[in-house]
Amino acid sequence: MKHLTPIIDVTDKCNLTCRYCYSGSAHNNFASRDKINQMFRSNIQLLFEFTDQVMAYNQNNPTIFIFHGGEPLLVTIENWDRVFTYFRKNKYPIEIDIQTNGILIHQDFIDLFKEFDVKLGVSLDGPKSLNDETRIFKSGKGSFSVIFRNLQKMKESEFKFGCLVTLNRANMDMDGIYNFFKEYQIHFNVRPIFDHQYSVPEELLITSTEYASAICKLFDFWFDDQDSPSLIGDFNNMVARFIEPIDRLTTCSFAKCCNEEFVAFDIQGDLWPCNCLPKNPFYYGNINEYSLDELLAFQKAEKLSTRWDKLLETDCKDCEVSNFCYGGCPSRAYYSHGSYFAKDPLCEAYRTILKHVYGKIETSFEDS
Ligand code: SF4
Ligand code: SF4
Ligand code: SF4
Repeated sequence: MKHLTPIIDVTDKCNLTCRYCYSGSAHNNFASRDKINQMFRSNIQLLFEFTDQVMAYNQNNPTIFIFHGGEPLLVTIENWDRVFTYFRKNKYPIEIDIQTNGILIHQDFIDLFKEFDVKLGVSLDGPKSLNDETRIFKSGKGSFSVIFRNLQKMKESEFKFGCLVTLNRANMDMDGIYNFFKEYQIHFNVRPIFDHQYSVPEELLITSTEYASAICKLFDFWFDDQDSPSLIGDFNNMVARFIEPIDRLTTCSFAKCCNEEFVAFDIQGDLWPCNCLPKNPFYYGNINEYSLDELLAFQKAEKLSTRWDKLLETDCKDCEVSNFCYGGCPSRAYYSHGSYFAKDPLCEAYRTILKHVYGKIETSFEDS
């Protein structure tokens, strides 16, 4: 069944200047918040139009809308309220996911998010000593203290959220990361840093081998720790997928054809496969000129769907974990190898991680 998860770029502006920023926010001039909101407001109709078309495409089945940036909470409460109210007024079964840097989460936002059952992901790279190496304000000051205060506010308000850690050379301390999130009982997931159009400083990049050994170590902490079974959502999903081999994704990187499952949309109405990819050369077109169905039926979009078939004949032929990995992320492949149709440069890491994780689960089943 056809189903799309939209990734919506609310703004490319941000109030942080992380050293590995993937969205160009650290490189672009920061427009005033007023300007960002004027732009959002004047284009909101395009977002509504896109929403209607996605829900028709998905036959009104439950759909996750992922809001990204830049920093999405630069958009005001009033504008967010308009969006959420539109979803509700149309009785759309939409789960609203927002990925934020956590700087602007104040009580009014928390109340609004509670009312609309928003799922909030906060980017945080571990305890202060790790996070503040890279996630910084323009002044160079670390962001941890502000974010952590806001996390505590959400806890006091009994609003559930999760954190997302970007693993890079400055925070490769898995004990430190695990113990921090465990101590505060904050659910989290980890994603590897990767190079992109704005170029990550070389000293922050990690190798596939380092990534594999960090994730295996983290898995072992989690698996052997009986106290915090739900702390790391991705690991929970991996175990669930082992017990019941259904088509449940752990991350988009393991989608068979991610361009058929995700689509990026920016507030000016442009569509392309994913906001980790540059618009050029992947641009599909604008929702003002063509319908979603037309854009996805264009040759460019259809060609991207051949990625897995091509990989099965080449890079991923005979791979023993292909049914879990499907060639990994085409965006990482594009930035590493210059081709959407190459395999993910973290290939070796995926093999190592998947074998380690499933080996460990299997052994534990045999022992029990
Ligand atoms: S919070 Fe995100 S968008 Fe903002 S500077 Fe950091 S990485 Fe870039
Ligand atoms: S290109 Fe990569 S990050 Fe984007 S949806 Fe596909 S797998 Fe996910
Ligand atoms: S682990 Fe490597 S070879 Fe196997 S499917 Fe993934 S990218 Fe391809």
